[in-house]
Amino acid sequence: MGNLHPNGQAGPAREDSPIRSKLRRSVTAARAAQTTLARAVTLSGRGVHGDRESRVTLAPAAPHSGIVFSLGGAELRADWRVVDATQLRTRLSVGAASVSTVEHLLAALSGLGVDNALVLVEGDEVPAMDGSAQAFVAAIDEAGVVDLPAPRALLQVVHAVRVSHGAGWAELAPADSGLSLDVEIAFEGLIGRQRRALTLTPDHFRTELARARSFGFLRDAERLWREGLALGASLDNTVVLDGETVLNPQGLRFADECVRHKMLDVVGDLALAGAPLVGAFRSYRGGHALNMALLEAAAREGALTWREAASVAEAPARHPSP
Ligand SMILES: [Zn+2]
Repeated sequence: MGNLHPNGQAGPAREDSPIRSKLRRSVTAARAAQTTLARAVTLSGRGVHGDRESRVTLAPAAPHSGIVFSLGGAELRADWRVVDATQLRTRLSVGAASVSTVEHLLAALSGLGVDNALVLVEGDEVPAMDGSAQAFVAAIDEAGVVDLPAPRALLQVVHAVRVSHGAGWAELAPADSGLSLDVEIAFEGLIGRQRRALTLTPDHFRTELARARSFGFLRDAERLWREGLALGASLDNTVVLDGETVLNPQGLRFADECVRHKMLDVVGDLALAGAPLVGAFRSYRGGHALNMALLEAAAREGALTWREAASVAEAPARHPSP
């Protein structure tokens, strides 16, 4: 399912050798300039929740645009303030316009360091592709990432903030540079407790997170279908677990694929802060709702301060006052 169609417009038409493209990617890790896509690319496939065909076109955007979803004449900036549903997926909504399941696409854009992009959506959901961010990474690579003539804006965590719900919690704490992630999950059966930590870089995102798929439990399927969710879920886009068994014939892509996917979701959800975060994220039994509550609490408690990328490198104060 899902096709990748490079649109081949709006961007410098230069041949890109693998070496040049690799160099450009490694530069992305430490970029101080804002970035966008070099040209537009289109992906299509079915949605995991609505089970309808949809298409998204990722296109270049001007500095300071952020990631903007365009659908039905409306524009929605990817921002936690316009999130209106978090059960199993993240949905953005303004007025009558809404787009579901944005988190894996946002994770790919954020993970690869794309600051600005216009996402034209035909349908009401981002295609599920294979349930991971792999197809979005491939599309961004197909388009290429270029610098824009504006310094990258970052949101620096200046004091710790924590939210909890039941046994689960999530927190952001200050860090000298970059965004570190430490995610732990606990489920019965095959998954058990899994924990993973990494510093978010384009390379780490590609190799450790991008291929990890969504997962779900067979016992939940009927209830979700009654609620109109996961109607398009299948073994092609979801790891389905039944007790100690993985129902997908190919098995898992990583022994700890589930915690890797949770971390991928975290990257997508934190992209809704509106700019790359500088800080340390940790969660235990977290999810989309807790991640959104964390961003809301961080804003309410004044835990985030805008910085330009260069000034973070120059003055990486440990606990600067806001
Ligand atoms: Zn996910």
